[in-house]
Amino acid sequence: MKKEFISLVKELYGNDFVPLHRPVFEGNEKQYLVDCIDSNFVSSVGEKVTEFERKIADFTGSKFAIATVNGSSALYMCLHLSGVGRGDEVITQALTFVATANAISYCSAIPVFIDVDKDTMGLSPSSLRAFLENYAEIRDGVCFNRQTGRIIKACVPMHTFGFPCRIQEVSEVCKKWNIELVEDAAESLGSYFQNLHTGTFGRLAAISFNGNKIITTGGGGMIIIDDEDLAKRAKHLTTTAKVPHAYEFFHDEIGYNYRMPNLNAALGCAQMETLPQMLQIKESIFARYSQFFDGCGIKMMRPIEDAICNNWLSAIILDSKEDRDDFLSYTNDNGVMTRPVWRLMSELKMFRDCQHDGLVNSFWLQSRVVNIPSSVPSLN
Ligand SMILES: *Cc1c(COP(=O)(O)O)cnc(C)c1O
Repeated sequence: MKKEFISLVKELYGNDFVPLHRPVFEGNEKQYLVDCIDSNFVSSVGEKVTEFERKIADFTGSKFAIATVNGSSALYMCLHLSGVGRGDEVITQALTFVATANAISYCSAIPVFIDVDKDTMGLSPSSLRAFLENYAEIRDGVCFNRQTGRIIKACVPMHTFGFPCRIQEVSEVCKKWNIELVEDAAESLGSYFQNLHTGTFGRLAAISFNGNKIITTGGGGMIIIDDEDLAKRAKHLTTTAKVPHAYEFFHDEIGYNYRMPNLNAALGCAQMETLPQMLQIKESIFARYSQFFDGCGIKMMRPIEDAICNNWLSAIILDSKEDRDDFLSYTNDNGVMTRPVWRLMSELKMFRDCQHDGLVNSFWLQSRVVNIPSSVPSLN
Protein backbone atom coordinates (compact mmCIF):
# COMPACT_ATOMS: atom_id res chain seq x y z
CA MET A 1 0.00 0.00 0.00
CA LYS A 2 2.77 2.46 1.02
CA LYS A 3 4.61 2.09 -2.26
CA GLU A 4 1.43 2.60 -4.29
CA PHE A 5 0.59 5.62 -2.13
CA ILE A 6 3.94 7.23 -2.99
CA SER A 7 3.23 6.64 -6.69
CA LEU A 8 -0.20 8.23 -6.41
CA VAL A 9 1.21 11.31 -4.63
CA LYS A 10 3.96 11.69 -7.24
CA GLU A 11 1.37 11.35 -9.98
CA LEU A 12 -0.65 14.17 -8.38
CA TYR A 13 2.22 16.45 -7.40
CA GLY A 14 5.31 15.49 -9.41
CA ASN A 15 8.61 13.93 -8.40
CA ASP A 16 10.13 16.65 -6.24
CA PHE A 17 9.72 16.61 -2.47
CA VAL A 18 5.99 16.93 -1.79
CA PRO A 19 5.11 19.19 1.16
CA LEU A 20 1.94 18.75 3.18
CA HIS A 21 0.44 22.01 2.05
CA ARG A 22 1.82 24.86 0.00
CA PRO A 23 0.19 28.11 -1.10
CA VAL A 24 -0.74 28.75 -4.73
CA PHE A 25 -0.30 32.21 -6.25
CA GLU A 26 -1.62 31.91 -9.78
CA GLY A 27 -4.19 34.70 -9.77
CA ASN A 28 -3.80 38.46 -9.34
CA GLU A 29 -1.46 38.26 -6.32
CA LYS A 30 1.54 39.92 -8.00
CA GLN A 31 -0.56 42.62 -9.64
CA TYR A 32 -2.29 43.59 -6.40
CA LEU A 33 1.03 43.70 -4.52
CA VAL A 34 2.47 45.98 -7.19
CA ASP A 35 -0.66 48.17 -6.99
CA CYS A 36 -0.11 48.50 -3.23
CA ILE A 37 3.52 49.48 -3.62
CA ASP A 38 2.71 51.96 -6.38
CA SER A 39 0.03 53.53 -4.20
CA ASN A 40 2.41 53.81 -1.22
CA PHE A 41 -0.25 52.22 0.96
CA VAL A 42 1.63 49.14 2.10
CA SER A 43 0.97 49.30 5.81
CA SER A 44 -1.98 49.27 8.17
CA VAL A 45 -4.16 51.70 6.25
CA GLY A 46 -5.42 51.01 2.77
CA GLU A 47 -8.37 50.02 0.66
CA LYS A 48 -7.29 46.40 0.22
CA VAL A 49 -7.95 45.79 3.91
CA THR A 50 -11.54 46.98 3.60
CA GLU A 51 -12.00 45.06 0.37
CA PHE A 52 -10.64 41.84 1.86
CA GLU A 53 -12.87 42.22 4.92
CA ARG A 54 -15.92 42.64 2.65
CA LYS A 55 -14.93 39.58 0.61
CA ILE A 56 -14.66 37.38 3.71
CA ALA A 57 -17.92 38.71 5.16
CA ASP A 58 -19.74 38.01 1.89
CA PHE A 59 -18.17 34.59 1.45
CA THR A 60 -19.00 33.42 4.97
CA GLY A 61 -22.40 35.09 5.05
CA SER A 62 -21.56 37.13 8.13
CA LYS A 63 -22.42 40.80 8.33
CA PHE A 64 -18.96 42.02 9.37
CA ALA A 65 -15.36 40.87 9.17
CA ILE A 66 -12.40 42.52 10.89
CA ALA A 67 -8.91 41.75 9.58
CA THR A 68 -6.07 41.13 12.04
CA VAL A 69 -2.34 40.34 11.91
CA ASN A 70 -2.88 36.63 12.48
CA GLY A 71 -5.41 34.03 13.51
CA SER A 72 -4.13 33.85 17.09
CA SER A 73 -4.80 37.56 17.68
CA ALA A 74 -8.23 37.21 16.06
CA LEU A 75 -9.12 34.35 18.41
CA TYR A 76 -7.75 36.15 21.44
CA MET A 77 -9.80 39.22 20.51
CA CYS A 78 -12.98 37.10 20.14
CA LEU A 79 -12.50 35.80 23.68
CA HIS A 80 -11.64 39.24 25.04
CA LEU A 81 -14.79 40.67 23.41
CA SER A 82 -16.80 37.85 24.98
CA GLY A 83 -15.70 39.12 28.36
CA VAL A 84 -13.35 36.24 29.14
CA GLY A 85 -11.01 37.44 31.86
CA ARG A 86 -8.71 36.48 34.69
CA GLY A 87 -9.66 33.24 36.42
CA ASP A 88 -12.49 32.34 34.05
CA GLU A 89 -12.62 28.90 32.48
CA VAL A 90 -12.97 28.28 28.76
CA ILE A 91 -13.89 24.85 27.42
CA THR A 92 -12.10 23.65 24.32
CA GLN A 93 -10.79 20.46 22.74
CA ALA A 94 -7.40 18.94 23.58
CA LEU A 95 -6.98 17.86 19.97
CA THR A 96 -6.16 21.21 18.39
CA PHE A 97 -3.31 23.46 17.37
CA VAL A 98 -1.67 25.18 20.34
CA ALA A 99 -2.98 28.62 19.28
CA THR A 100 -6.48 27.69 20.50
CA ALA A 101 -5.30 27.05 24.06
CA ASN A 102 -2.82 29.94 23.94
CA ALA A 103 -5.58 32.43 23.08
CA ILE A 104 -7.42 31.34 26.24
CA SER A 105 -4.27 31.85 28.30
CA TYR A 106 -3.72 35.34 26.84
CA CYS A 107 -6.99 36.28 28.63
CA SER A 108 -5.50 34.92 31.88
CA ALA A 109 -8.27 32.32 31.67
CA ILE A 110 -7.91 28.57 32.18
CA PRO A 111 -8.66 25.98 29.49
CA VAL A 112 -10.77 22.91 30.27
CA PHE A 113 -10.26 20.11 27.76
CA ILE A 114 -13.23 18.10 26.54
CA ASP A 115 -13.12 15.12 24.19
CA VAL A 116 -13.75 15.18 20.44
CA ASP A 117 -16.00 12.94 18.35
CA LYS A 118 -14.09 10.26 16.47
CA ASP A 119 -15.87 11.00 13.20
CA THR A 120 -15.34 14.80 13.22
CA MET A 121 -12.16 15.22 15.33
CA GLY A 122 -14.00 18.29 16.67
CA LEU A 123 -15.53 19.03 20.09
CA SER A 124 -18.08 16.37 21.00
CA PRO A 125 -21.49 17.76 22.02
CA SER A 126 -22.25 14.61 24.01
CA SER A 127 -18.96 14.84 25.95
CA LEU A 128 -19.62 18.53 26.52
CA ARG A 129 -23.13 17.79 27.81
CA ALA A 130 -21.84 15.01 30.06
CA PHE A 131 -19.12 17.21 31.51
CA LEU A 132 -21.51 20.06 32.24
CA GLU A 133 -24.07 17.75 33.80
CA ASN A 134 -21.37 16.34 36.07
CA TYR A 135 -19.55 19.50 37.02
CA ALA A 136 -21.53 22.64 36.19
CA GLU A 137 -24.34 24.55 37.83
CA ILE A 138 -26.09 27.77 36.93
CA ARG A 139 -26.31 30.45 39.62
CA ASP A 140 -28.02 33.73 38.79
CA GLY A 141 -27.72 32.94 35.11
CA VAL A 142 -23.96 32.32 35.33
CA CYS A 143 -22.42 28.91 34.68
CA PHE A 144 -20.03 27.77 37.42
CA ASN A 145 -17.72 24.77 37.59
CA ARG A 146 -18.65 23.17 40.94
CA GLN A 147 -15.27 21.48 41.25
CA THR A 148 -13.16 24.62 40.85
CA GLY A 149 -15.68 27.33 41.77
CA ARG A 150 -14.75 29.24 38.64
CA ILE A 151 -17.04 30.69 35.98
CA ILE A 152 -17.22 28.74 32.71
CA LYS A 153 -17.38 31.71 30.40
CA ALA A 154 -16.92 30.43 26.87
CA CYS A 155 -16.54 27.35 24.72
CA VAL A 156 -14.20 27.15 21.72
CA PRO A 157 -14.85 24.24 19.36
CA MET A 158 -12.46 23.85 16.42
CA HIS A 159 -13.24 22.46 12.96
CA THR A 160 -10.23 20.19 12.63
CA PHE A 161 -8.53 20.20 9.21
CA GLY A 162 -11.71 21.79 7.81
CA PHE A 163 -14.08 18.99 8.92
CA PRO A 164 -17.07 20.66 10.56
CA CYS A 165 -17.78 19.42 14.08
CA ARG A 166 -21.37 18.95 15.33
CA ILE A 167 -21.55 22.69 15.75
CA GLN A 168 -25.33 23.04 15.86
CA GLU A 169 -25.53 20.67 18.84
CA VAL A 170 -22.55 22.30 20.55
CA SER A 171 -24.31 25.63 20.11
CA GLU A 172 -27.50 24.28 21.73
CA VAL A 173 -25.57 22.94 24.74
CA CYS A 174 -23.79 26.29 25.14
CA LYS A 175 -27.11 28.18 25.01
CA LYS A 176 -28.63 25.91 27.62
CA TRP A 177 -25.71 26.52 30.01
CA ASN A 178 -25.30 30.20 29.23
CA ILE A 179 -21.81 29.74 27.82
CA GLU A 180 -20.59 31.97 24.99
CA LEU A 181 -19.76 30.04 21.82
CA VAL A 182 -16.60 31.20 20.01
CA GLU A 183 -15.64 29.08 17.00
CA ASP A 184 -12.03 28.55 16.08
CA ALA A 185 -12.64 28.47 12.33
CA ALA A 186 -8.93 28.98 11.57
CA GLU A 187 -8.84 25.87 9.37
CA SER A 188 -12.33 25.87 7.95
CA LEU A 189 -12.76 28.68 5.43
CA GLY A 190 -15.01 27.05 2.82
CA SER A 191 -16.55 24.50 5.23
CA TYR A 192 -20.25 24.45 6.03
CA PHE A 193 -22.67 22.76 8.37
CA GLN A 194 -26.33 22.64 7.35
CA ASN A 195 -25.53 25.18 4.64
CA LEU A 196 -24.19 27.72 7.11
CA HIS A 197 -20.53 28.66 6.99
CA THR A 198 -18.44 27.47 9.94
CA GLY A 199 -17.78 30.38 12.26
CA THR A 200 -21.31 31.75 12.00
CA PHE A 201 -22.89 29.66 14.77
CA GLY A 202 -21.83 31.84 17.69
CA ARG A 203 -21.49 35.61 18.04
CA LEU A 204 -17.79 35.60 17.19
CA ALA A 205 -15.31 33.43 15.33
CA ALA A 206 -11.72 33.55 14.11
CA ILE A 207 -10.17 32.56 10.78
CA SER A 208 -6.44 32.27 9.96
CA PHE A 209 -4.58 33.07 6.74
CA ASN A 210 -1.21 31.72 7.79
CA GLY A 211 0.99 30.34 5.00
CA ASN A 212 -0.17 26.75 5.46
CA LYS A 213 -3.92 27.48 5.52
CA ILE A 214 -6.35 27.06 2.60
CA ILE A 215 -5.69 30.63 1.48
CA THR A 216 -2.92 32.83 2.78
CA THR A 217 -2.07 36.48 3.25
CA GLY A 218 1.46 35.60 4.34
CA GLY A 219 0.22 36.02 7.88
CA GLY A 220 -3.21 37.18 8.84
CA GLY A 221 -6.49 36.52 10.54
CA MET A 222 -10.11 37.61 10.55
CA ILE A 223 -12.83 38.01 13.14
CA ILE A 224 -16.32 37.35 11.81
CA ILE A 225 -19.28 38.94 13.55
CA ASP A 226 -22.95 39.63 12.86
CA ASP A 227 -23.55 42.16 15.62
CA GLU A 228 -22.80 45.68 14.45
CA ASP A 229 -21.86 47.15 17.85
CA LEU A 230 -19.54 44.26 18.57
CA ALA A 231 -17.98 44.64 15.11
CA LYS A 232 -17.32 48.32 15.76
CA ARG A 233 -15.78 47.46 19.08
CA ALA A 234 -13.59 44.77 17.48
CA LYS A 235 -12.36 47.23 14.86
CA HIS A 236 -11.68 49.87 17.51
CA LEU A 237 -9.75 47.56 19.85
CA THR A 238 -7.67 45.98 17.07
CA THR A 239 -6.68 49.38 15.67
CA THR A 240 -5.10 50.84 18.85
CA ALA A 241 -8.46 52.24 20.09
CA LYS A 242 -7.83 55.44 18.16
CA VAL A 243 -10.75 57.82 18.02
CA PRO A 244 -11.12 58.80 14.34
CA HIS A 245 -9.83 62.29 13.61
CA ALA A 246 -8.22 63.87 10.55
CA TYR A 247 -4.95 64.69 12.28
CA GLU A 248 -5.19 64.30 16.04
CA PHE A 249 -4.10 61.28 18.01
CA PHE A 250 -6.50 60.35 20.76
CA HIS A 251 -7.05 56.89 22.22
CA ASP A 252 -9.85 56.16 24.64
CA GLU A 253 -8.66 52.82 26.09
CA ILE A 254 -5.81 50.32 25.85
CA GLY A 255 -6.05 49.00 22.34
CA TYR A 256 -4.00 46.61 20.27
CA ASN A 257 -2.04 47.04 17.08
CA TYR A 258 -3.52 43.98 15.42
CA ARG A 259 -4.02 45.72 12.06
CA MET A 260 -3.45 43.66 8.95
CA PRO A 261 -1.10 45.51 6.58
CA ASN A 262 -2.51 46.48 3.19
CA LEU A 263 0.14 44.34 1.43
CA ASN A 264 -1.14 41.24 3.17
CA ALA A 265 -4.75 42.15 2.45
CA ALA A 266 -3.84 42.56 -1.22
CA LEU A 267 -2.67 38.95 -1.26
CA GLY A 268 -5.89 37.97 0.47
CA CYS A 269 -8.06 39.70 -2.16
CA ALA A 270 -6.33 37.81 -4.95
CA GLN A 271 -6.51 34.52 -3.03
CA MET A 272 -10.25 34.97 -2.48
CA GLU A 273 -10.76 35.26 -6.22
CA THR A 274 -9.27 31.80 -6.71
CA LEU A 275 -10.77 30.16 -3.61
CA PRO A 276 -13.82 28.66 -5.39
CA GLN A 277 -11.53 27.04 -7.96
CA MET A 278 -9.16 25.80 -5.24
CA LEU A 279 -12.06 24.24 -3.36
CA GLN A 280 -13.07 22.33 -6.50
CA ILE A 281 -9.56 21.04 -7.14
CA LYS A 282 -9.17 20.04 -3.50
CA GLU A 283 -12.41 18.12 -3.74
CA SER A 284 -11.10 16.18 -6.74
CA ILE A 285 -7.85 15.36 -4.91
CA PHE A 286 -9.85 14.13 -1.95
CA ALA A 287 -11.83 11.93 -4.36
CA ARG A 288 -8.62 10.39 -5.76
CA TYR A 289 -7.30 9.64 -2.28
CA SER A 290 -10.64 8.35 -1.22
CA GLN A 291 -10.80 5.86 -4.08
CA PHE A 292 -7.24 4.72 -3.33
CA PHE A 293 -7.71 4.21 0.41
CA ASP A 294 -11.13 2.56 0.00
CA GLY A 295 -9.33 0.11 -2.27
CA CYS A 296 -6.83 -0.81 0.46
CA GLY A 297 -9.34 -0.83 3.32
CA ILE A 298 -7.86 2.21 5.08
CA LYS A 299 -10.23 4.71 6.62
CA MET A 300 -10.20 8.27 5.35
CA MET A 301 -11.74 11.11 7.31
CA ARG A 302 -14.99 12.24 5.70
CA PRO A 303 -17.40 15.03 6.61
CA ILE A 304 -20.44 13.94 8.63
CA GLU A 305 -23.97 14.22 7.28
CA ASP A 306 -25.05 17.83 6.56
CA ALA A 307 -21.41 18.95 6.55
CA ILE A 308 -19.27 20.19 3.68
CA CYS A 309 -15.49 20.08 4.19
CA ASN A 310 -13.08 22.47 2.47
CA ASN A 311 -10.60 19.56 2.15
CA TRP A 312 -7.86 21.72 3.59
CA LEU A 313 -5.88 18.74 4.89
CA SER A 314 -6.83 15.19 4.06
CA ALA A 315 -6.41 12.69 6.87
CA ILE A 316 -6.31 8.91 7.14
CA ILE A 317 -6.84 6.79 10.23
CA LEU A 318 -4.43 3.87 10.51
CA ASP A 319 -5.12 0.76 12.57
CA SER A 320 -2.55 1.30 15.30
CA LYS A 321 0.26 3.54 16.47
CA GLU A 322 2.76 1.03 15.01
CA ASP A 323 1.09 1.24 11.58
CA ARG A 324 1.05 5.01 11.87
CA ASP A 325 4.74 5.28 12.75
CA ASP A 326 5.62 2.89 9.98
CA PHE A 327 3.61 4.94 7.43
CA LEU A 328 5.10 8.23 8.68
CA SER A 329 8.68 7.09 8.37
CA TYR A 330 8.23 5.36 5.01
CA THR A 331 6.52 8.34 3.36
CA ASN A 332 8.84 10.98 4.81
CA ASP A 333 11.86 8.88 3.78
CA ASN A 334 10.49 8.78 0.26
CA GLY A 335 10.02 12.49 -0.37
CA VAL A 336 6.36 12.71 0.64
CA MET A 337 5.61 14.76 3.69
CA THR A 338 3.04 13.30 6.07
CA ARG A 339 2.38 14.30 9.65
CA PRO A 340 0.71 12.96 12.78
CA VAL A 341 -1.90 15.14 14.52
CA TRP A 342 -0.79 17.55 17.22
CA ARG A 343 0.15 16.29 20.66
CA LEU A 344 -2.91 16.78 22.84
CA MET A 345 -2.92 20.12 24.65
CA SER A 346 -3.38 18.26 27.95
CA GLU A 347 0.06 16.68 27.40
CA LEU A 348 1.91 20.00 27.01
CA LYS A 349 3.59 21.22 30.16
CA MET A 350 1.76 24.57 30.09
CA PHE A 351 -1.62 22.87 30.16
CA ARG A 352 -1.07 19.55 31.87
CA ASP A 353 -2.69 20.63 35.13
CA CYS A 354 -5.89 21.73 33.39
CA GLN A 355 -9.08 19.82 34.03
CA HIS A 356 -10.12 17.34 31.30
CA ASP A 357 -12.70 14.62 30.83
CA GLY A 358 -10.45 11.64 30.10
CA LEU A 359 -10.19 12.43 26.37
CA VAL A 360 -10.70 8.83 25.24
CA ASN A 361 -11.35 9.62 21.56
CA SER A 362 -8.66 12.29 21.49
CA PHE A 363 -6.01 9.79 22.61
CA TRP A 364 -7.35 7.20 20.18
CA LEU A 365 -7.09 9.65 17.26
CA GLN A 366 -3.74 11.02 18.40
CA SER A 367 -2.07 7.67 17.86
CA ARG A 368 -3.69 6.87 14.50
CA VAL A 369 -4.39 9.97 12.39
CA VAL A 370 -1.98 11.06 9.67
CA ASN A 371 -2.29 14.06 7.35
CA ILE A 372 -1.32 13.54 3.73
CA PRO A 373 -0.29 16.10 1.07
CA SER A 374 -3.33 18.17 0.15
CA SER A 375 -2.16 21.25 -1.78
CA VAL A 376 -3.68 22.41 -5.01
CA PRO A 377 -1.00 21.39 -7.56
CA SER A 378 -1.99 24.16 -9.98
CA LEU A 379 -5.09 26.08 -10.93
CA ASN A 380 -4.91 24.86 -14.54
C1 LIG B 1 -3.62 28.24 12.34
C2 LIG B 1 -4.47 28.11 13.52
C3 LIG B 1 -4.66 29.16 14.44
C4 LIG B 1 -3.90 30.42 14.50
O1 LIG B 1 -3.62 31.06 13.38
P1 LIG B 1 -2.27 31.91 13.17
O2 LIG B 1 -2.67 32.74 12.00
O3 LIG B 1 -1.20 30.92 12.84
O4 LIG B 1 -2.00 32.70 14.38
C5 LIG B 1 -5.57 28.97 15.47
N1 LIG B 1 -6.21 27.82 15.62
C6 LIG B 1 -6.04 26.79 14.79
C7 LIG B 1 -6.81 25.54 15.00
C8 LIG B 1 -5.15 26.88 13.72
O5 LIG B 1 -4.97 25.83 12.93
